[in-house]
Amino acid sequence: MIEESSIERLRTSIDVVDVIGSYLELKKSGANFKANCPFHGEKTPSFVVSPQKQIFHCFGCGVGGDSIKFVMEFEKLSYPEAIEKLASSYNIPLTYTKGTNSGSSDERRVLEVIQNFYKESIHKTPHALEYLQNRGITNKSIEHFGIGYVGSSASVIEKIKQNQLPLPLAADSGVIAKGERGDYYARLVDRVTFPIFNTAGAIVGFGGRTLGNHPAKYINSPQTKLFNKSRLLYGYYLAKSTIYDTKEVVVTEGYLDVIMLHQAGFTNAVATLGTALTSEHLPLLRKGEPKVTLAYDGDSAGVAAALKAAKLLSTSGFEGSVVLFPEGKDPADMVSSGNLQELRNLLKGGADLAIFVIEHIKNSYNINNPYEKQKAITEVNSYLNTLNKVVKEAYALKAAQIFNTPLAYFNQKQRAQQAPTQQAQISKNPAWEAILKSMLHNNSLIDELLDIVDFSFAKGYEQAFRNLAANNLQDPVLRGIEIDDTVPLLDEAEFKAQILQELEIYYKTKLKELLNRQDLDYKRKSFLIRKIKTDILPRIKKGELVPHESNFTI
Ligand SMILES: [Zn+2]
Repeated sequence: MIEESSIERLRTSIDVVDVIGSYLELKKSGANFKANCPFHGEKTPSFVVSPQKQIFHCFGCGVGGDSIKFVMEFEKLSYPEAIEKLASSYNIPLTYTKGTNSGSSDERRVLEVIQNFYKESIHKTPHALEYLQNRGITNKSIEHFGIGYVGSSASVIEKIKQNQLPLPLAADSGVIAKGERGDYYARLVDRVTFPIFNTAGAIVGFGGRTLGNHPAKYINSPQTKLFNKSRLLYGYYLAKSTIYDTKEVVVTEGYLDVIMLHQAGFTNAVATLGTALTSEHLPLLRKGEPKVTLAYDGDSAGVAAALKAAKLLSTSGFEGSVVLFPEGKDPADMVSSGNLQELRNLLKGGADLAIFVIEHIKNSYNINNPYEKQKAITEVNSYLNTLNKVVKEAYALKAAQIFNTPLAYFNQKQRAQQAPTQQAQISKNPAWEAILKSMLHNNSLIDELLDIVDFSFAKGYEQAFRNLAANNLQDPVLRGIEIDDTVPLLDEAEFKAQILQELEIYYKTKLKELLNRQDLDYKRKSFLIRKIKTDILPRIKKGELVPHESNFTI
């Protein structure tokens, strides 16, 4: 874990305008800065950054917080990842506390025992070794990647029992599963096994390639506490140092591609685990800020996957390229047949991510037909609008060249990328906002007011009052009021006058409601009406802050 003191040091040495200004174009507006909110579609800026308070707040969708929160939201990072990102961009060293035991150590022990068992088994299994040899995998790679073999289900269960590991625990680790009749069976049978490690090098699961006629060629461990396949990348642990050194990473689609690429010296290769590349992979891919080379199959499935990944990466600010291997020539085949120079050229000569997307769109229309051309241009524009502004301008120029059209066709105004926020707009009440702001700045007013009013007095601001009373200042409404220069700060006399006015409005509204109520007992109704008319309202008019009586709730 990152030590709190170093997070504090980071907080005090970064500036919110600097941080957000590196992502968005900020315009000065009074004491604050404004921009179009990047988190919801809008045409007029309601996204405000306050250097004084070191926070940002969107009046449109309510999102807000400090610099770290912004990076979390914008980059889709976890809290520690956002801190690490900021620390590295601003050159601020972080210190870490020693990791505590996560409680998953029992599952990990099962995985380690089983991994050793699989590793031993491969050398006793000629048909498995033969398979690997036929694929061109050397003994050195078998060792380096910890490749193993699993035979029968019974042998796995026996191994677990021999090591006195509880079967339910082994099931939690994903090695075995419980059948319908309550008996346990191994998830992988007669397969070559590939251990999967997390970024720290601890084993978290397995992939298995069948050696029989099983319809599923590859199977992965199920989702467990330790294993989340949509976040992990196969080979990352072994590729990590090269990725950091070269600032390049090659993303492939298979275990064998990774192993063969490493074997051929491309030790920065990783693979997704039988899934497409998703935004969940991005925090890991972003580490070390490498350029990403997508090395996918040239068949239609590979092209579709590459297109999706290229869009995801480019709109998330990654630089990189796409390499499509000609049919029948995946990286594994090229390495095993010794075509290293050709492979090197292919990996170096990929198409830039955004160019790949633009050309793909162009090629999917018949642009000799003006109507189709128009459609293609519209599609390219909507893609360009997902890119960062500066990057977008550069690619608008390329798009104009690719389509052989004037640049103006690709310089469309930024349109809303996401559906407008679902959150209902709160109808603003300037009086309550001024009251709340004054309370934020003068805590004694909080006590004064809480003695008098019930939160229900402040229609639409109930939650803000509750949070203020609880000193929870992260409330979006409170944050918005705090940052809004048009909300005045009241002195004590003005504060009291404002409360009196609100009290009067409240009781007059109640009175009207009461007169129209048919369901109330006559006696109670007339009592309440008389109470408001002859007691409460006259006292308010005389300037008395009449306390709210709980029995008054109608
Ligand atoms: Zn917003």
